[in-house]
Amino acid sequence: MKKIYGNNLLISNLCNMKKFGRTAHTVLFYGEKGTGKKLLAELYTSLLMCRNPVENMPCGICSICRNIQAHGHPDVTYVETSGKSGGYSVDTARKICSDAFIKPNNNTACKVYIFRDCHNMDVRTQNTLLKIIEEPPDYVYFIFTSETKADFLPTIISRCICFGVSPCTEEQAEKSLLESGFNKQAIGKAIECFHGNIGMCTEYIQNENLRQQVDLTKMLTDSIIIKDEYKLDTILYTLGKDRYAVKTVLTMLDKIIRDSAVLIHNPDADNIGCYRMGAIKLSYILTSRKAEKIHNSIERAWHTIECNVNINLALTALCAEITEIII
Ligand SMILES: [Zn+2]
Repeated sequence: MKKIYGNNLLISNLCNMKKFGRTAHTVLFYGEKGTGKKLLAELYTSLLMCRNPVENMPCGICSICRNIQAHGHPDVTYVETSGKSGGYSVDTARKICSDAFIKPNNNTACKVYIFRDCHNMDVRTQNTLLKIIEEPPDYVYFIFTSETKADFLPTIISRCICFGVSPCTEEQAEKSLLESGFNKQAIGKAIECFHGNIGMCTEYIQNENLRQQVDLTKMLTDSIIIKDEYKLDTILYTLGKDRYAVKTVLTMLDKIIRDSAVLIHNPDADNIGCYRMGAIKLSYILTSRKAEKIHNSIERAWHTIECNVNINLALTALCAEITEIII
């Protein structure tokens, strides 16, 4: 079983639920991408099913644990998404509602449904699931992972045990990445950008696209620093129509803006973004109020893109807004 770094309290809460026979039937792991929510979903599933736990943790070596790790256990369903936006459909939810009433075949005595990345789960799907979440058969468990609780209806949240998942420390991230066999230099660069977020560090090392997106984000920051509207607009334009790339870059830019706002008051503060030097320079030219305005503009731009507004249009508006704020 892959070692999970950080989130110790969360893990001990999961273990205690099992130890005291108070396992929650619906659990949500929420937190930023790359922090290990899926690993935690796997850990909780193994905790529910493993027959030979060691010190309240799943053994990781029995056939059940191994099947769960290989995503091959017949009583563990990784619910599939569908459609262009990769959401969970009402049909899928209906199928699960009826499947849940079929008792598990195996001697694990439970069935687990795992819904990963629930940011696209629409209201109708959630309402379809609500009934079974309210009164699940004894042997049924639901695990959701998502970046934020806000992806869910309050009625669903009120029936979930919600666990916020955090990045670990940079030291822990380094240890984990070394264990994965990456070289020290690549790890150093990844941690400089993504700190204790092991998933994003791994992606940075392995994925050329993400490295390019980091470079674009740094260039965007630089063009804000030198107040160059033309450059800002051109770089935003190069993002094209790739929604995922736009989201990644806007999220990274937002973190740099957040860092600069913190650095205005405390020049020694740790940063969460991928470009400390850029955040430091921004903190010289921005006020807290201006940083907040830019943050709001970025959020608004992303929101309009999510509402299917033309991406270039939304980014052009963002560029105009940022220029107005900094000039
Ligand atoms: Zn086991």
